[in-house]
Amino acid sequence: MLSLQNISKSFQTDRIETIALSDINLHVNKGEFVSVMGPSGCGKSTLLNIMGLLDQPSSGEVSIDETPITSYKDKQITGLRSQKIGFIFQSFHLIHDLKVLDNVELPLLYRKMSAKERKALAITALEKVGLSARIHHYPTQLSGGQQQRVAIARAIVGKPEILLADEPTGNLDSHMGSEIMSLLESLHQQDNTTIVMVTHDEEMAKRTQRTIRVFDGQLI
Ligand code: ADP
Ligand code: ADP
Repeated sequence: MLSLQNISKSFQTDRIETIALSDINLHVNKGEFVSVMGPSGCGKSTLLNIMGLLDQPSSGEVSIDETPITSYKDKQITGLRSQKIGFIFQSFHLIHDLKVLDNVELPLLYRKMSAKERKALAITALEKVGLSARIHHYPTQLSGGQQQRVAIARAIVGKPEILLADEPTGNLDSHMGSEIMSLLESLHQQDNTTIVMVTHDEEMAKRTQRTIRVFDGQLI
C-alpha cells in the first residue's frame, strides 16, 4: 500500500544541517494498523509527513500502491494526497469560526461534487464518530475528545485508504484518549482503513498490530 525506500531527509537552517531521517526502509500493508514510537526529535513527524506526501524526502523513493511518486508533479501529488490520505493531528487543527459540519466538509471542496453530496458525506462521517448531535456547534463549544472526533470525521470524510495520525491522543486525558483509540480501532476493523499512528503511549501502541521504533532518524 505504502512504501518508503532508502528515505533520507535533512533540513538546512542557516549553515546547520539537521539529519531528521537517514536511509529509512518501510512497507505498510493494506489494512494494517501500525504505531510509531521514539523519543522527541527522533524524526517521527518528519516520517509521517513524508508518508502523507506533505513533505518531500531529500533522497529515496515513496511508493503508493506500488507506484513510485518521485517523478510526480506538485499538482498530481496534491490530488493523490486528497484522494488517498487522511490526517489527524495532536492539536486537532480545526477551524474555529466554522461550524462542525463545515469543518468536516472542507476536504471535499477540492472534489467535483454538489453541496448536497458534500453535506450528506459529512453527516455520515459525523455519525461514524458519534457526533451527529453536534453538527451545528462550533469547535470551541466541544470537549477536547469531541474536537478530536470532529477532526477524525474530517480525515475520513473522503474515504481515504490510509489514515495518518500524529499523536492523536497526546492532548487528551487518558479516558478520552482511550475513547479516541477505540474509535480508530473500529475504523480499522469496519472499513479496513490502513492506519499509521505516532504515539508516546505504550498502552496505545500495544493496541496496534505492529510498532515501529525510531531512534535518531533510523528505524530500530
Ligand atoms: P519528532 O516528531 O520525533 O519529535 P521531528 O520529525 O519533528 O521529530 O524532527 C526530527 C528532527 O528534525 C529534529 O531534530 C527537528 O528539530 C528537525 N526538524 C524537523 N522539522 C524541521 C524543519 N522544518 N526545519 C529544521 N529542522 C527540522
Ligand atoms: P513533536 O510534537 O512530534 O515533538 P515538534 O513540536 O518538535 O513535534 O515539531 C512540530 C513540527 O514543527 C514538526 O513536524 C516540524 O515540521 C516542525 N519543526 C520541528 N523542529 C523544527 C525546527 N528546528 N525548525 C523548524 N521547524 C521545526
